[in-house]
Amino acid sequence: MRSPILDYLDGIIAETAHVDSGALADYIPELAAADPDRVAVALCTVNGTVYASGDSEHLFSIQSMSKPFAYALAIEDRGLGDVLERIGVEPSGEAFNELSLDPETGRPRNPMINAGAIAAHALVRGGGSEAVDRVLALFSELAQRPVGIDESLAASELATGDRNLGLAYLLHASDRLAQDPGTAVRGYVRQCSASVTVHDLALMAATLANGGVQPNTGARLFSRRTTRHLLSVMTSCGMYDAAGDWLTGIGIPAKSGVAGGIIGVLPGQVGLAVFSPRLDPHGNSARGVEMMRRLSEDLGLHLMEAGRPARSSLRETHTTTVEGRTATVYVLQGDLVLSSVESLVREIIERPPATDVVVFDMSRVDEVLPVARRTSAETATKLVDNGYRIILVDPEQTLHGFRDSRGRDVERWSSARLAKSQR
Ligand code: GLN
Repeated sequence: MRSPILDYLDGIIAETAHVDSGALADYIPELAAADPDRVAVALCTVNGTVYASGDSEHLFSIQSMSKPFAYALAIEDRGLGDVLERIGVEPSGEAFNELSLDPETGRPRNPMINAGAIAAHALVRGGGSEAVDRVLALFSELAQRPVGIDESLAASELATGDRNLGLAYLLHASDRLAQDPGTAVRGYVRQCSASVTVHDLALMAATLANGGVQPNTGARLFSRRTTRHLLSVMTSCGMYDAAGDWLTGIGIPAKSGVAGGIIGVLPGQVGLAVFSPRLDPHGNSARGVEMMRRLSEDLGLHLMEAGRPARSSLRETHTTTVEGRTATVYVLQGDLVLSSVESLVREIIERPPATDVVVFDMSRVDEVLPVARRTSAETATKLVDNGYRIILVDPEQTLHGFRDSRGRDVERWSSARLAKSQR
């Protein structure tokens, strides 16, 4: 039986067939020779299953979609502080290849435009061909297959690469380049010439959606913090001077490449990749943008879409008898996050328990976020200070090692003991 998700992706391709606006990038002669009608789409959830449709095995160059990954590698190598000293995180509002640095700091404005991406490449440990090898090894781990370079494309871009060389000299002159300009541009261009499919890109994007862990191999390739930082930069800067339109209309952290690819990442859910070589005036794939728009709309992926409101964590309150005394039982449920725990705490503050003994039954709780744990510890302190006796029933140990905010242990009972005591 064919998956309905594949049927859906086929539909995305069929329904965007009319979008034939835009033009091939021609400042790199090899790109101008691409078949403009190739089209592909792929989706990979954080469980690691890839669904792909169209020319999903067609290889094309990764181009600027390499920038986020090389930037993350530089951060892992050098630390975020060092990288931020050389490369900013502000949207530039300019074209990807603009010959400009921030007039105040002399830094490239962000790592998604060429100036910042060249500077980021030059920060990858090893330098020269070792840095390129390490970037390729990273792509290969992300995509779970050996990723290579399209050598004739790299040669074609290098032969016409004056603009990037100009940027590198500008960086060098303002002391923002960790390498000599020629080496940095050569390495950066080779990084951009890595040959990938939408299938590869969906896995790469899904790794970012999964907090930096490749969903199938389980390898941690970037720390959670690096991944969060990277996705923030992709959100504000990934689509160049179309970033505002993209964020409001489509709302997925993304990065485009001048060969026609776009990747999108919805944290915690899914990595997306689309491909179609004709570009709009911003240098983003015209049909690719339309495919992404539909994916975002149909699959409910817009980052700013209010999620399902967290239910109150308080399922019910009842009284029972514990060791011959009346006790109030709070039965909690679901994930304890800020909003759900706030309603529980409000209930306790506004209607303090009428019995001295208070039982918190956690057996229906799935997960407790740090904020909820802290708030619970503070609430427990107030209860104990006001003379209440607290009993925690927590069979799944969702509050493992819980103490109140003064470090006092709380009494723990098993569900069986509570049941027996109630009789
Ligand atoms: N290698 C390309 C360049 O430097 C990448 C640009 C892009 O994909 N937007 O011009």
